[in-house]
Amino acid sequence: MAKVYIGLGSNIGNRQQHIKNAIHELKAKGISIIAQSSLIETDPQGGPLQGKYLNGVIAIETNLSPDELLHLTQSIEQKLGRRHRERNGPRTIDLDILLYDQVTLTNSHLTVPHPRMKERDFVLKPLSEIAPEIVKDLFHENH
Ligand code: ATP
Ligand code: MG
Ligand code: MG
Repeated sequence: MAKVYIGLGSNIGNRQQHIKNAIHELKAKGISIIAQSSLIETDPQGGPLQGKYLNGVIAIETNLSPDELLHLTQSIEQKLGRRHRERNGPRTIDLDILLYDQVTLTNSHLTVPHPRMKERDFVLKPLSEIAPEIVKDLFHENH
C-alpha cells in the first residue's frame, strides 16, 4: 500500500460540501482515508478575480499507481462539476497529488511531488497539521 497526501481545494458554491463529497467518492472507490486536516480559508493565488478558497490535506492508503490515482482524482473532479480547467481559476473541487510514498516522477501528465507545494501555505499549513515531520523534511533535503 502506498501512503499518499492529497491537497483539496474549492472556491465555488458549498465549498465544504464539495470537499466532503470528494472524500466520500475516494472512499467509495476503496481508498482508506487515514488522516484529514482541518479546512482553512485562504486567499486565491494568481488567476482571475475569484472567491476565497477552502483548503485541506488528507492522507490516504491505496494500491493504485500514481497514474491510476490521478485518473481517479480527475474523474472525481469532473463528477463534482469541475468544468473550467483554467490554471489557478475558480473550481468546485481541485484534487492534487502532493506526495506518493517516496516516489519522484515526471511524465506528460503527472509530476510528484507536486512541483509547487513547497511555496504554498495553503498546502503546507494543513499538511503540517497531519504530517509535521514530512513538512520539516521537505525543507531539509535539497538545501
Ligand atoms: P496547480 O497544479 O498549480 O495546483 P491546478 O491544480 O489548478 O494547478 P489543474 O487544472 O487541476 O491545475 O491540473 C492541470 C494538470 O496538472 C492536470 O491535467 C494534471 O495532468 C497535471 N498534474 C501534474 N502533476 C499533478 C499532480 N501532482 N496532481 C494533480 N495534477 C497534476
Ligand atoms: Mg491545484
Ligand atoms: Mg489540480
